[in-house]
Amino acid sequence: MSNTYDVIVIGAGPAGYVAAIRCAQLGMHTAVVDDFVFKDGEPALGGTCLNVGCIPSKALLDSSEQYHKVAHTLAAHGIKTKGVELDVKAMIARKDQVVKDLTGGIRQLFKANHVEWLHGHGKLVGQGAVEVRGADGETRRIEGGAVILAPGSRSVDIGAAPLDHERIVNSDGALEFTEVPKRLGIIGAGVIGLEMGSVWSRLGSKVVLLEAQDELLAPVDRQVVRVAQKEFKNQGLDIRLGCRVTGTKVGKQVSVHYEDKEGKQNLQVDRLIVCVGRRPNTEDLFVDDVGLILDERGFVHVDEQCRTNLPNVYAVGDVVRGPMLAHKGQEEGMMVAEIIAGQYGHVNYDTIPWVIYTHPEIAWVGRTEQQLKAANVPYHTGVFNFAATGRARAMDESAGLVKLIAHAETDQLLGAHIIGPQASELIAEAVVTMEFGGAAEDLARTVHAHPTLSEAVHEAALAVGKRAIHKAN
Ligand code: FAD
Ligand code: AMP
Repeated sequence: MSNTYDVIVIGAGPAGYVAAIRCAQLGMHTAVVDDFVFKDGEPALGGTCLNVGCIPSKALLDSSEQYHKVAHTLAAHGIKTKGVELDVKAMIARKDQVVKDLTGGIRQLFKANHVEWLHGHGKLVGQGAVEVRGADGETRRIEGGAVILAPGSRSVDIGAAPLDHERIVNSDGALEFTEVPKRLGIIGAGVIGLEMGSVWSRLGSKVVLLEAQDELLAPVDRQVVRVAQKEFKNQGLDIRLGCRVTGTKVGKQVSVHYEDKEGKQNLQVDRLIVCVGRRPNTEDLFVDDVGLILDERGFVHVDEQCRTNLPNVYAVGDVVRGPMLAHKGQEEGMMVAEIIAGQYGHVNYDTIPWVIYTHPEIAWVGRTEQQLKAANVPYHTGVFNFAATGRARAMDESAGLVKLIAHAETDQLLGAHIIGPQASELIAEAVVTMEFGGAAEDLARTVHAHPTLSEAVHEAALAVGKRAIHKAN
């Protein structure tokens, strides 16, 4: 086992493992220090995303959607079902297997690329020096020509709702319920809260979300949010805005005290999930003497190319500014590896897509109509409803729309906002167009297969020039 490396990466989430693999591809001797332990007690690669984030949440979203379809919507297709039963433990076990397969895949990729995995806690203790503390408490010092910090983030806790990991949990715990809570409370109606609420609501929970802000999903285009609110309401998600949770009492149930415009309120639930955001993992990451600078919000301070204030020390992923999204961290990981190798690395922060995996899915890239209005940028919008596409109708998925926003003078695509079936996949077309500096006209003149959901994107592009075919412009 070596003690010196070209590159040491702390953290094996999507930002760190991608950085490590790319460094190895570029011929650098690379080690990754990661301390994650899966619930079975086994060390696991992949970080939050693979173990307790993107992947397990999507596995449960998919299972719960399948259940909901079989239980409630197949009859409309002429399919009669009887005796549909739910086995939550099997659902959770399937989710765990998906996670295991994928984290095992990262282990294989490390082997294939000769990336050394050091299980333990990493701490930057000097110029290029990292102390690795194993589970047994033994420490070892390793040296690297460059160090990439990718320690990710963790759920924010609030004093008003301390976790007991049984009745009050965070998103990690919400992926582990072994039975469907009759009444489920969720504090925070952001991306994670809405996804967790969707899972358990589809499986039968009566879900109430308490959101502090007066508007739902503040960063999302308002036209999209209006559709989302209507759909979520139809699904039975009870989203209460402008609610400040002031305290909780745990007994057989959880009593949640909160205040809204009308005054003091109380909610009784069987389980409560706290989903109020995430904070960067910077505790115990470096000794003060190294002089690493954090920004005013506690993230590691970096420039556009993820350089910290220390020479040859970079930071990527959730621990630095920007959206807390796996693909954002992955791109930063690749950029930094290429910069360390003396190549040109770059991340276009203007074209990072966002997705909320509710039903319908919500996806967007670029600027919203509200942002453009506030910045006095002249624009045209083109909107097309999925209800007017044959494929969405055939799928019985006609709720939602595609909205494209282009510059009024240059026609350059400035934003795309989709709520509807497969929005997570459809958004890629807009991302590529924007990456190439394309115009709405480029999309409008591109042939789209019929009948597909992507025709809604095509028609929205035509609608920017008021020439959509399947709607009155
Ligand atoms: P992480 O994935 O957090 O990984 C950091 C790793 O470093 C962990 O293994 C941690 O244990 C380890 N570590 C930390 N400190 C140290 C140390 N000092 N020494 C050694 N190891 C250390 N994003 C999406 O893009 N799409 C989604 O659908 C999505 N869904 C999500 C759903 C949920 C429920 C949650 C919680 C998050 C979701 N996210 C999603 C966000 C996504 O998981 C994060 O943006 C992503 O994991 C960040 O990657 P990262 O590599 O920066 O850090
Ligand atoms: P996200 O940033 O997508 O993870 O969403 C977190 C959500 O939680 C945001 O919509 C916040 O407004 C909301 N939030 C944060 N703190 C509280 C709180 N104390 N009570 C209710 N909602 C909160």
